[in-house]
Amino acid sequence: MPRIRQHNVTAAQWSANGSALGSQDLTLPDNQIFASNVFSVAVQRRRLPKHVFKALQRTLERGEALDTTLADGVAQAMKEWAMERGATHFTHWFQPLTGSTAEKHDSFYGPAGDGTAIAEFSGKELIQGEPDASSFPTGGIRATFEARGYTAWDPTSPAFILENPNGALLCIPTAFTSWTGEALDHKIPLLRSMDALSGAAVRALKLLGISDAARVFTTIGCEQEYFLIDEQYYFERPDLLTTGRTLFGAKPPKGHELDDHYFGSIPERILACMLETERELAKLGVPVKTRHNEVAPNQYEIAPIFENSNVGADHQMLTMQLLQNVARKYGLVCLLHEKPFAGVNGSGKHNNWSMGTDTGLNLLDPGDTPHENLSFLFFCTAVIQAVNKHQALLRASIANPGQDHRLGANEAPPAIISIFLGAELERVYGAIESGKAQASKPGSFLGLGTPVLPALPLHGGDRNRTSPFAFTGNKFEFRALGSSMSPALPNTVLNTIVAEAIDELADALKRALKSPGASLEKAVAKVVKESWTANKQVVFGGDNYSQEWHEEAEKRGLANLRTTPDALPWLIDKQTLAAFKKYKVLSKRELESRLEVFTEQYAVKINIEAETAAQIARTMLLPAAVRHLNELKASGLDELVGEVEPLVKELHFALVKLEDANLADNQPSGAMKWATYMRDTVIPAMDDVRQIADRLEKLVADDLWPLPKYSEMLFIK
Ligand code: ADP
Ligand code: MG
Repeated sequence: MPRIRQHNVTAAQWSANGSALGSQDLTLPDNQIFASNVFSVAVQRRRLPKHVFKALQRTLERGEALDTTLADGVAQAMKEWAMERGATHFTHWFQPLTGSTAEKHDSFYGPAGDGTAIAEFSGKELIQGEPDASSFPTGGIRATFEARGYTAWDPTSPAFILENPNGALLCIPTAFTSWTGEALDHKIPLLRSMDALSGAAVRALKLLGISDAARVFTTIGCEQEYFLIDEQYYFERPDLLTTGRTLFGAKPPKGHELDDHYFGSIPERILACMLETERELAKLGVPVKTRHNEVAPNQYEIAPIFENSNVGADHQMLTMQLLQNVARKYGLVCLLHEKPFAGVNGSGKHNNWSMGTDTGLNLLDPGDTPHENLSFLFFCTAVIQAVNKHQALLRASIANPGQDHRLGANEAPPAIISIFLGAELERVYGAIESGKAQASKPGSFLGLGTPVLPALPLHGGDRNRTSPFAFTGNKFEFRALGSSMSPALPNTVLNTIVAEAIDELADALKRALKSPGASLEKAVAKVVKESWTANKQVVFGGDNYSQEWHEEAEKRGLANLRTTPDALPWLIDKQTLAAFKKYKVLSKRELESRLEVFTEQYAVKINIEAETAAQIARTMLLPAAVRHLNELKASGLDELVGEVEPLVKELHFALVKLEDANLADNQPSGAMKWATYMRDTVIPAMDDVRQIADRLEKLVADDLWPLPKYSEMLFIK
């Protein structure tokens, strides 16, 4: 059946086929839904025996070891609470190295022996699960003959209930480990890295004269970008369906040149979908705060209020899952791929990151006068030192094939990791370096030129949207994450390398404090000055998208790792191994296994893309082009034939080359060799086919072209 514009009219139709929520009186207690599906601290306080609750709180607040004898009590209360909400099953919910979440459902019910069934859930079932782990990626950590893996309850991330139109499921966040105790997931190293940072920061705080903090939590708030397109187009495109991105598609006449989408009014269907997504997330205790249109057409963003890294990372996984689930109720599909449309801005995930004490102090908040705030300067300097030393590792932590389309493509930060501090803070460091204090101007205000508008306090200088790692007032924003990613690994890296830098600076501070006549101010200034001088090369306030920066960065010796295979080996670099060993975050074997898994995933994903591209070109695009050519030939219009015929031949030629590159026999074995081959041979072959096909899209009769076009997918809402 030819594609005709009638399809678009159908796609543009929608009715509120979600649950047509309407609006409610939100002052009524029953209409308060936040965390209503979470086994939260408040629920635990109400439902657990007092001593059990207290012991559990100590684990949460102080990171103390869990007393497993309490598990039966917790399990009992959790089961009752869940069943009241209709849950028939429970699952250990975990995050294997696939990058998504995993679950295996178990019924609460077991036969009682007399023909009836009773609901049971023991402490043992709460604490430990044993999924058949042999099919999860392990990068050689576990051979299939020792296939046992365990999931272990993470009491620091609250259990929650996922609703389905036909029932409900109790989800228990868990860690996933091999029987030898090695981490097979993203949660274990994240938790270990949070402990590492807490230890280092508490020690440093004591030296800085702040001794009331018992624990420091790292915090994250992720701004998630995504596309919503009509599901009809999604299912008409085998490339979107199989790979999450369009492998073909000519540039539409209108893109985002008019800047008319960013922060624009949100279309009704989209807003309806967002409202329901946010409502579902609220029930799960995800503190969603902001929503807006993003730069590209049909691109949007959602961001929560920050939480501790572990809970924030779990909530981020839930956010991605619910965005996708709820979209379908509105006839939409949510695309989380980093680059669904070539030539159109891709999607990232800004990872806002800070450190806060259990007493409520944000260690990266400069207060009113940055130059006076010793503790802030100390910790900020530690971040600069860590990022400079481990720039390549940070790049590796955010590597995936989708990212290779995005980083450095004038829409996202380049693959070069640098830090933006803002003019104010740079002046402070400049003053410390030159030994002249009082450089900053406290209490600066931004006048808006009219008395009817209030003056705004100026914080930490301007914003710089092009920087991959920016100081934004009271946190750093790691902007280079991809939209489809779990934030766990980049945060694990950040926490670990900053812990290392804090310890190094604390050692230096301790020495400085011992020198005769030392004061805390002088000692901190000395330590900060030394570290700044050694690491300031990573600080850059200009336009990260410019060519000049690439040249300047090269002169400064900053790493510029353009592709995933370039970046990943840094996971096992000597200085990575040393830092991760020192803080017991990941062993050499665990890091090697990650390198292996991620390298292979890269190659496999490109392979799937290449085979999908070849099939679409062979069975959809080439036939359409030939049909069109035949019509032209039948018309006897030789000039038109002359326009199209060479392109059809070129397409065929390029396609055969791609098919040849895709042959398993032509691909080398060994993960890194395979990945490099995919990057250097297969991707260019795929690009060649696409380039010709996109030209044909603009020549072949519209009703013959089998794929929905960018101008449809991106604009019909
Ligand atoms: P912008 O788009 O200007 O960067 P948003 O409001 O979209 O700002 O997002 C800011 C994000 O930063 C939010 O998710 C917010 O919770 C998070 N954030 C704020 N303070 C902290 C902090 N101390 N630690 C971690 N994240 C934070
Ligand atoms: Mg931001």
